[in-house]
Amino acid sequence: MKRVLVANRGEIALRIIRTLREMGIESVALFSDADAKSTHVRLADYAYHLPGVTSQETYLQIPKVIRAIQDSGADGVHPGYGFLSENAHFAEAIACETRAKFIGPSPKAIELMGDKVQARNLVQAAGVPVVPGVTHGLDSVEDLRGFIQAVGYPVILKAACGGGGRGMRVLRSDGDVAPAYEACRREALAYFGDDKIFCERYIDKPRHIEVQVLFDEHGHGVHLFERDCSIQRRHQKLFEEAPSAFLNHEQRMRLGELAVKVASAVNYAGAGTIEFICESPEKVYFMEMNTRIQVEHPVTEMITGVDLIREQIRVASGEPLGFGQKDISLKGWAMEARINAEDPKNDFAPGPGVVSRLRLPSGPFCRVDSHLYQGYEIPQYYDSMVAKLIVWAPDRNVARSRMLRALSEMELAGVPSTIGFHEALLGHPNFQNSTFDTGFLARESEYFQKTLQGVDHLTPELAMVGGLRATHGRRG
Ligand code: ADP
Ligand code: ADP
Ligand code: MG
Repeated sequence: MKRVLVANRGEIALRIIRTLREMGIESVALFSDADAKSTHVRLADYAYHLPGVTSQETYLQIPKVIRAIQDSGADGVHPGYGFLSENAHFAEAIACETRAKFIGPSPKAIELMGDKVQARNLVQAAGVPVVPGVTHGLDSVEDLRGFIQAVGYPVILKAACGGGGRGMRVLRSDGDVAPAYEACRREALAYFGDDKIFCERYIDKPRHIEVQVLFDEHGHGVHLFERDCSIQRRHQKLFEEAPSAFLNHEQRMRLGELAVKVASAVNYAGAGTIEFICESPEKVYFMEMNTRIQVEHPVTEMITGVDLIREQIRVASGEPLGFGQKDISLKGWAMEARINAEDPKNDFAPGPGVVSRLRLPSGPFCRVDSHLYQGYEIPQYYDSMVAKLIVWAPDRNVARSRMLRALSEMELAGVPSTIGFHEALLGHPNFQNSTFDTGFLARESEYFQKTLQGVDHLTPELAMVGGLRATHGRRG
């Protein structure tokens, strides 16, 4: 490949552009009216304007993006995450209407895994455990009631084509069933353009553990160990680490093998993630597969030394992997904190605005993936995640201290942020001894409210006004 169009924005567009430059490949950025001054546009070799501001008008408009690919003469397209990254029609249109290669799996694999009901059936047939659930889309409330009678409460209702943690509903009693069924269907149609919904047993207090896989177009593939993404709010990830302290070596290897089995079952090519819901280290169930690069991919890069974007591009160019499972080793511990322009004191409400002051952390084993700069205006139209803070260390304890140190260096003024929330999280005893589950944040909301109350994230400079020593003491 000589020129790749990046069909995305923000930090992930920048992340991809960086690897393209390292590989000597030209980059083409896309930008909406609201993103004209974004860093991903400045650092790309070329930029292509998509008139409009909303995602619908711009980054999600397949005909406009296809036109951009044709006009720019790109011979590759990287979709990033979100937007069109898991849209089989987009991958198909690129194949039919442009001379560019889609950097991702085949439209067929995207489609198979894009429908969670289909994916569950396929994976189960391949001998991988799935959460007990229906094997078809629900077509009536009676259908749902029948399933509940068979497995009991609680259950979770989901959109078959859903994503981003949206539109799911947990049912715990009969009174909820009919209204939840109707609402879930409506939302599925509104968010994902398809009202197919399904339901499965709701696992109480599980860990969300996912496995990174990488396959070439010649049938060879590996896993790159797991990421623990159990720190979530409203079914959305906020903090990730690799490896997971929940698993020992044997359990880790078994999960990896299950993930490879899932990918092989769909003749997968490219980078992908198999998400498991874990009731215990032995009781693990396939939940879904994401057929794209993920937000939290850097923690895997840190513990394996593999540049996943580079591998995606190599594999899409038809090259063989060049390494086998035994060549991949796990070293140390990595953590990632998602810095969102959201107010954790107000139920994580988004707070777009102008970044009036910015200092990004650095120092030993610290990586920041972000398109932010001082004076940048965070648009209201897109996702509120504006930076990812990633650290590596030889072990989990040092990684935790390093993350706290990095958070204490970071200054982001003008908008609310999750920096203080992450500091509170890392100070919680259950985080320290790794006894948490996906319901942890919701159950501990009082702790977080209390810890965040009045104590805004204080940076060393601001602290000096009131006495450097005292403030460092307060931060503990
Ligand atoms: P990851 O699985 O990589 O952690 P997230 O679930 O955090 O990804 O989603 C990353 C981004 O992609 C978010 O902006 C999210 O809203 C968006 N996203 C993911 N899946 C979908 C989908 N099916 N439809 C719309 N947006 C999605
Ligand atoms: P999305 O496509 O939106 O990422 P997922 O199916 O991956 O949806 O689920 C997102 C999150 O919802 C999971 O990480 C987990 O916290 C929760 N969840 C989903 N299914 C279950 C389940 N069967 N039991 C318990 N929690 C679940
Ligand atoms: Mg998921």
